[in-house]
Amino acid sequence: MKYKLSRISLGSVFKVTFVLGLIVGLIVGVVLALISMAGLTPYRPLAGAAIAGLGLIGAIVGGIVSGIISAILAVIYALLYNITASITGGLELELSEARVVYPTATTAYPAPRPVEATPKCPRCGSPLRYIKEYKRWWCDTCRQYV
Ligand SMILES: [Zn+2]
Repeated sequence: MKYKLSRISLGSVFKVTFVLGLIVGLIVGVVLALISMAGLTPYRPLAGAAIAGLGLIGAIVGGIVSGIISAILAVIYALLYNITASITGGLELELSEARVVYPTATTAYPAPRPVEATPKCPRCGSPLRYIKEYKRWWCDTCRQYV
C-alpha cells in the first residue's frame, strides 16, 4: 500500500531529536571531560578532581544545549518539509504489514479443528481427540484410533 507523508508532527520531531541530541551531547561531553581529566590529574590531583566535576557539569549542560539545538534544527526542517509537501504532495511511502510467522504450527501437521467441528467416532459417535504425535484421531470411548 502506498501512502503520502503529507505532514510531520512538529511536537514529535522536537521530542525525538531533543532526546537524541541530549544523548549525543552527553556522550561527547563525558568523553571530553575524561580526556581533560586524564591530562591534568598526574600533575595536580585536586585540580584534576575539580576539572572532572566541572567537566561533568559541562557534559550535562552541553547535552541539553545539543538537544535543544538539534531539536530546533529538526523542527525547522520538518516545518519546511510540511510547506514543501503541501505544494509537491510529499514523500511517497510504501508500507507493508508486519506479520507474525509461526513456522511449525501450520506446516508440520494439520491443526485440530475447532470444538464445534470436532469429528465424531464412526463406531460409537463420541467426539474424537486429535493426537499431534501420531497425526491421528483418537476415540476415548473405544480407546482406539479411527
Ligand atoms: Zn468410539
